[in-house]
Amino acid sequence: MKKKILSILLVSSLTMSFASSVFAADTPKLGYKWSSKNITYQNDGSNTVFKRLWTTGAKEWNDATVVNFSSGTNSNFTAGNKTVANATWDGIMEPVYNANKTFKSVKVWVNDFYTSQFEYISTDNAIQSIATHELGHALGLAHAPERTLSVMVPATFLSDGKFARLQYFPGIGDENSVNSIYNNNSLTSEQSILNENDFVEGKELVNLDVSWSKWYLNLKDLTRDADLVVKAKVTAQNGTVVTGENFYDYKQKSEINIQKVLKGDSALLNQKVTLYQMGGEDKNVVVKYHGTTPLVENDSVILYLKKIGDNEYIPINEDVSIFKVGTNEQLINLQSLKIISELTLIEESTH
Ligand SMILES: [Zn+2]
Repeated sequence: MKKKILSILLVSSLTMSFASSVFAADTPKLGYKWSSKNITYQNDGSNTVFKRLWTTGAKEWNDATVVNFSSGTNSNFTAGNKTVANATWDGIMEPVYNANKTFKSVKVWVNDFYTSQFEYISTDNAIQSIATHELGHALGLAHAPERTLSVMVPATFLSDGKFARLQYFPGIGDENSVNSIYNNNSLTSEQSILNENDFVEGKELVNLDVSWSKWYLNLKDLTRDADLVVKAKVTAQNGTVVTGENFYDYKQKSEINIQKVLKGDSALLNQKVTLYQMGGEDKNVVVKYHGTTPLVENDSVILYLKKIGDNEYIPINEDVSIFKVGTNEQLINLQSLKIISELTLIEESTH
């Protein structure tokens, strides 16, 4: 008898662990929402192909959840496409937040610099998944862990070339979270990604949500895609520069002196180059991006960089490509916070 109970317990615990790996957990939330579940967005797609991406994405959320997207005139919620070559994201949301946990305005973009590339065009639903994903952010969803059945996984492809969105339309976890946000008429009681200290009197607050073209599985793939891998010292922090009309154009500029070239142009040894990181601040607006840690003068780092101009670079996917040299010459990755020796890093980058 006892044995039978034990085997039943064993079976049910196996079933449960199987279930949890198949059915997605509820998708994390931003802690911000629109004040109504009836939401008008303005479709600014540059042609019928891009317009259709947003129309289809809106329909997918309408069919799956309690929200009702309709397209119309609304300068506070626009969806469109931009050609941004000096970035490693293929989708982005630029939300302006109110202190009462509602969106003041939202812009979502598909980066057509990426969606015109072969791997996007040749993969069914890859491009559509970006628009549907960005509309999920615009409803108040954050990123789901990679390899889950959610359209909210943080990248379109894995660095081995596979399509990263197992679910290219809203999954159960996405639906549950959106429904729980909008079934409740009161303001959200969710813990927010922002805190009161983030709001600066008299300035707009933007917190970028960035979705990558590629999710890096290892340092070897990151090295393969990098134009330059270097050990460097930050010699100056030059504050915010704004290179265009969008919030993603706010960049923190610093100057780094290259001490070792691990991949790329060895003539750059002992030369200074410019590094740009996302986010920044001017007299009107604070633009935050939680996935990059602004470097400061005298920081010693190893960086995996994409070239964006003459002597100008960005870290690929930001913090994932920044290793800070700490005590005892140990390196800490600013995304995972994992510690690694320089020797191991070089080994993992080349083998
Ligand atoms: Zn995203």
